[in-house]
Amino acid sequence: MSLSELPQPAEAPGKSAPYLSRRTFAIISHPDAGKTTLTEKLLFSGGAIRAAGQVRARGERRRARSDWMKIEQERGISVSSSVMTFERGGITFNLLDTPGHEDFSEDTYRTLTAVDAAIMVIDAAKGIETQTRKLFEVCRLRDIPIITFVNKIDREGRHPLEALDEIQEALALDVTPMTWPVGMGSDFFGVYDWRNKRFLTSSEGRGQRFDSVREVSGLEDPVLTDTVFANVMAELEENVELGAEAYPEFDREAFLEGHMTPVFFGSALRDYGIEEIIEFIAEFGPAPHAQPATARVIRPDEPKVSGFVFKVQANMDPKHRDRIAFVRLCSGTFKRGMKLKHVRAGKTIAVSAPIFFFAEEREIAETAYPGDVIGVPNHGQLRVGDTLTEGEEIHVTGLPAFAPEVLRRVRLSDTMRVKQMRQGLEDLAEEGLVQIFKPSIGSNWIVGVVGVLQLDVVIDRLKVEYQTEIGFDAVQYNTARWIECDDDQVLRRFLDASRGSLAYDRDDRPVFLFKNAWEVSYVGEKNPEIRFRETREIV
Ligand code: GDP
Repeated sequence: MSLSELPQPAEAPGKSAPYLSRRTFAIISHPDAGKTTLTEKLLFSGGAIRAAGQVRARGERRRARSDWMKIEQERGISVSSSVMTFERGGITFNLLDTPGHEDFSEDTYRTLTAVDAAIMVIDAAKGIETQTRKLFEVCRLRDIPIITFVNKIDREGRHPLEALDEIQEALALDVTPMTWPVGMGSDFFGVYDWRNKRFLTSSEGRGQRFDSVREVSGLEDPVLTDTVFANVMAELEENVELGAEAYPEFDREAFLEGHMTPVFFGSALRDYGIEEIIEFIAEFGPAPHAQPATARVIRPDEPKVSGFVFKVQANMDPKHRDRIAFVRLCSGTFKRGMKLKHVRAGKTIAVSAPIFFFAEEREIAETAYPGDVIGVPNHGQLRVGDTLTEGEEIHVTGLPAFAPEVLRRVRLSDTMRVKQMRQGLEDLAEEGLVQIFKPSIGSNWIVGVVGVLQLDVVIDRLKVEYQTEIGFDAVQYNTARWIECDDDQVLRRFLDASRGSLAYDRDDRPVFLFKNAWEVSYVGEKNPEIRFRETREIV
């Protein structure tokens, strides 16, 4: 279900409802497009990263911070930058990090289920690259609103109209330019914000860092014509004119429905376009959306607290197996110390030391609102997909596990360490790094991942955190499907007849291991009553 199809709060309960000022988003991009640079600049602009020498000395904050540090020391948890929160002009921005490597990982997918919008960073010269496209497709599944940032316009890049056409065609999205580059490469003068009639430039001249916003009356304003080369001005005029004809006006509805992306040209490295993006998100949002769940939809204006775990991060210290569950709040006002129901386990947990994440520090969270993310330290009870409520039996939906595209049998060098290996793999499965399958015949576990890079991470982490050396052997299977059937007898017969290709996932759900795509369709046709599912909801 797309976000915009969900019922939204009918009437905003007064502009002051804190959740309305939350903006929870992620940045998606191909490696090297400039995600890290843009992240830093956004945080810096929001005051979350301090310039050298500036000290924030609020007593309250220091106390809370040292509380956190104690926890961090005791538990040895290092939670890097999974969530970065900063405030600007009364708006709280929660930026969730998506892992940056080339492989598409489930962790990334699930993080994207916890955001309300995404900034898509594109390298002006390279255009849309593979990883950007994959991540975009994930956003499209839920029609998450996308803001496009065409980065590195201080270098030679594609013609801006070409860049816009590519986005429109490759992603089948309406595009609407919000700003235009004024020259590129050696002729780079800055950015023209044609809607607000502003020229972003550098007082030091061409190609330098942005430090000056000049109000202009339009393209004929001497502020522009006196500084910018005539040929660059001519091109800018043409772009603005053609752009106005070729692309639709910004339409907030279409943006919120995920059908239109506003495009900002800029340079993260040289600070162009950062403010524009922040202002845009502050003004147009979106604020936290309603969350699909079993039985009913959870709305952010409901009084009772609910939230779901979208990520689990384990302690890197092998002596402590504690972990942090990242919980996105969906409704209510969360207060520190609250007792919440862990719906899957049917237990109540007291959230006594929840954590807020800032770029350079963490704080004990006293209060949190829908859209916010809190870290809940726990001993492994909380898993990705779990729902916390004030008592209601409700499960947030929409966090699928994917059928793995890579399957390998685990090879253990030292058979004395089978227990540690199993514990390690269970833990990593809990974090969502791998899926584990226990074959119906034979004892060696099979692991499944969505991308091969994850296999190296598994080997490494088992070695470092569990002192267990493992390797992986090829298997004859290349994909897995969860098996479902409404008729128990048919299911039983099928399972009995398929033992050679059968395995069980960590929740003991049956999974059929297939050798190839042909077999998937063959077995499917032979067994019309059985459903072979590529994803399954984690509940
Ligand atoms: P990530 O892999 O997407 O996180 O990319 P980074 O932020 O690490 O940037 C990759 C490289 O591009 C680094 O060398 C950056 O300095 C450079 N870079 C980032 N933004 C810009 C920009 O606006 N202009 C130029 N010329 N280089 C940039």
